[in-house]
Amino acid sequence: MTLNRRSFIGTGVAAAATLSAPMVLAASHGKPRVVVVGGGAGGATAARYIAKGAKGAIDVTLVEPTRKYYTCFFSNLYIGGFRQLASIGHTYGTLAAEYGINVVHDWAIGVDRDARTVSLAGGAKLPYDRLILSPGIDFVDGAVPGWDVSAQNAMPHAYKAGSQTELLKAQVNAMPQGGTFLMVAPPNPFRCPPGPYERVSMVAHALKATNPTAKIIIADPKPKFSKMALFQEGWGRHYDGMIDWIGDDFGGGNVEVDPGAMTVSIDGEVTKADACNVIPAMKAGRICEQAGLTEGNWAPVSGHTMQSRIDENIHVLGDSCAQGDMPKSGFSANSQAKVAAMAIRGALTGSKVFPAKFSNTCWSLLETNDGVKVGATYEATDEKIAKVDGFISKTGENAALRQATFEESVGWYAGITADMFG
Ligand SMILES: Cc1cc2nc3c(=O)[nH]c(=O)nc-3n(C[C@H](O)[C@H](O)[C@H](O)COP(=O)(O)OP(=O)(O)OC[C@H]3O[C@@H](n4cnc5c(N)ncnc54)[C@H](O)[C@@H]3O)c2cc1C
Repeated sequence: MTLNRRSFIGTGVAAAATLSAPMVLAASHGKPRVVVVGGGAGGATAARYIAKGAKGAIDVTLVEPTRKYYTCFFSNLYIGGFRQLASIGHTYGTLAAEYGINVVHDWAIGVDRDARTVSLAGGAKLPYDRLILSPGIDFVDGAVPGWDVSAQNAMPHAYKAGSQTELLKAQVNAMPQGGTFLMVAPPNPFRCPPGPYERVSMVAHALKATNPTAKIIIADPKPKFSKMALFQEGWGRHYDGMIDWIGDDFGGGNVEVDPGAMTVSIDGEVTKADACNVIPAMKAGRICEQAGLTEGNWAPVSGHTMQSRIDENIHVLGDSCAQGDMPKSGFSANSQAKVAAMAIRGALTGSKVFPAKFSNTCWSLLETNDGVKVGATYEATDEKIAKVDGFISKTGENAALRQATFEESVGWYAGITADMFG
């Protein structure tokens, strides 16, 4: 590890922030300034790639409230008992110490687009030449009647990983014999299209071992879902009779919950749940709305550079943006971050910029060593990020191929988290 003045400053700010309101150092040296809001899949990657590529020519500040980021990717495997929680937690020390990124643990609460400053909850104002927003998702108010965040202890969403994921796992483990796990699935578009169905597979895996007469019900507002044939084949093979999917055709979208009574009404029929996972409709992280960058629920961007179509000084990455044909995934956010980092370095330091190319793969674990995947490559057109070609696992694949697919996903996790957090 190399320590220089910039990395010392970065580390010092991170440490100071744990003790008091964050300290922000004014950029008095005339270097271009990039502020990144959100230290998740998109933001951490972008900060690292800008700092690494610019070799000190750009000041990079990363604003992220949490000291430890738990990846949603592989959080379902934690629920299934395949991973420890600690193995999906990542800190920001390497970004500060090795890449000289000024890590500020605080919330961004406003963007003054004329003055080009970001306001933080702690009272500081950060000036920028380019701003990156990658704040993930928030939930649409009133999307599931009866549910709001004050009910997330009784009925967790576990769609932002960490304490919510721990809570959901504990609730699954505490279910009585023969009890009911109920999931309210979200409408499109949402973070990680196969995520709810991988989660059901992992809950079924956990219950099969300790509570084999338990039932799983999914109330879904959609008529079909990602990798549906693969999931349904896997559920039939591994968890026969345990999982009941109620799609839109059967009233799966007509849901009301009562967190106090732990009941869910699906198309008028009331079911008592022993554990209930409510995943509401989603929208861009709130700071995108506060900055006036959204149209509808998402922030429109140009796929060439990931610049907001509303403000060219701001790039929006990951789940918050309207990303054309790409699914909202960690892999997508990482891929978009590299495109934005290249464009920003080009604009601020004159480095070479190549045409934007993107890729994504979403792996899902159905049962021990039974992994499946779907993926594609993409390019930027003037209208959107457009799919070029894709691939998907097939039903009926042999056990060796499924195991290889699972092992590929384990390698991907190690590689992509190193690419994000250093
Ligand atoms: C159960 C589940 C399984 C998944 N599995 C996969 C998978 O296998 N593969 C895959 O590629 N993807 C997967 N995903 C999706 C993936 O987690 C997201 O698509 C990805 O994290 C999006 O990256 P992001 O940068 O947009 O948001 P995030 O990674 O959520 O990062 C956003 C960050 O911004 C911070 N933030 C928010 N608001 C502010 C603010 N105002 N100020 C400062 N900071 C702020 C948050 O604290 C957070 O750390 C899964 C998701 C879920 C829920």
